[in-house]
Amino acid sequence: MARSPVWASRSKTRGLVLDVIRAARTISRVELAAATGLTGATISEVVRELLGDGLVVEVGRGASTGGKPRTLVQLNPPARYGVGVQLERNACVIVLVDLAGRPVARTSFHGVASMPPDRALPLVASQVDALLTTAAVERAKVLGVGLVSYGPQDRSAGVLLTPQPTEEWCDYPVAGRLSESLGLPVLLDNDAAAAAIAEYWMGAVDPRSTYGCIYMATGIGGGVVVAGEVYRGSSSNTAEIGHVSIDVHGDECTCGNIGCLENYAGPSAVVRQALATPGLARRLALDPAGDDVLTEFSRIAAAANAGDAEARGLVERSARYLGHAAVTVAVLFDLDTIVLAGQSFAVAGSIYQAVIQQQLDRRSFARRAHPVRVVPSVNGSDAAAIGGAVLVLQNELTLGRGRPEDRSAPAGANEARDHLLPARSTGQ
Ligand SMILES: [Zn+2]
Repeated sequence: MARSPVWASRSKTRGLVLDVIRAARTISRVELAAATGLTGATISEVVRELLGDGLVVEVGRGASTGGKPRTLVQLNPPARYGVGVQLERNACVIVLVDLAGRPVARTSFHGVASMPPDRALPLVASQVDALLTTAAVERAKVLGVGLVSYGPQDRSAGVLLTPQPTEEWCDYPVAGRLSESLGLPVLLDNDAAAAAIAEYWMGAVDPRSTYGCIYMATGIGGGVVVAGEVYRGSSSNTAEIGHVSIDVHGDECTCGNIGCLENYAGPSAVVRQALATPGLARRLALDPAGDDVLTEFSRIAAAANAGDAEARGLVERSARYLGHAAVTVAVLFDLDTIVLAGQSFAVAGSIYQAVIQQQLDRRSFARRAHPVRVVPSVNGSDAAAIGGAVLVLQNELTLGRGRPEDRSAPAGANEARDHLLPARSTGQ
């Protein structure tokens, strides 16, 4: 593949080398040159710089191929950190992730939906501060915060374009406000896209793979990753499979479309269907007035696992709808893998996996050319939050620059950084 002239820039070269080291786990300079197409002299200089910045470390010697044994390098996980904040309609999950993408600390709390954003975001900021203190991680090592949530959103402006959880959140500068409260750069991104890229960063998928992610928490979203980067479309509101119509005569959705998948297959729909099944609702003590959809849904999922025929019927119906959507995404993007991520796959994920796999095996357009594998996320229920942190690491280190002294550069100084709102102090 021809290399774009953009790789000539110094930051891109550093980013490329760092990304190859990350993916390889340990690698020699000679192998780095072969993998990147860069000269040995350039590799030596870049690796010296990365060693100097503490981003990589030397870790002994590999096998010799005739000459002297080769010194291996690998990432230095505690050198930098990213924070991921997943803002759901009810809950907020915060994770601190090291340079290798491993979560080192986590916290979560409820009640976000009942608060206006000018109260909720300072609370999120205080929880991030507390997490850094508990983990004893210096602030200077934190590259930024990836705030991930549902769409639609204006990623570059850092605002949600939907009146959820309440009207006050629509158009509110969530990324800017959190950045002010924290004094750290904040990027806003889609939760499903974040969950998708985290798989790549953790080495769970082949780096050359074109894969999709079905993300299900309270709502249903999706993401597609091509060669290690999220497919962005025109405005980063891509692969929103929860809002693909599956019934042209269906009811109007809050998004404006009609007959959206989410209203048939999502946790709210399954809870609604269970409440309309009197015996099941009684057996599981479902609360018709309850607003904690995820908890009610997990009860139904647990009953399905335990062999309750009615609960299982509802979960399988939801899975068949998702299978329908999975086939559509696979047909559109010629995917080789679909990852299932998000809290709502936590309990009955294996039922979803089996049903969706069955649909793809039977119906995917390219099935005679290659299978489409359905796999659970390696990051479990926190996939989106971990992905938020990973997006910061990827943005700063492999697409951007990642040297602490560069962080004062204005946003937009580098094309890859234009969605990371710079840290601003309160009152500016
Ligand atoms: Zn919709």
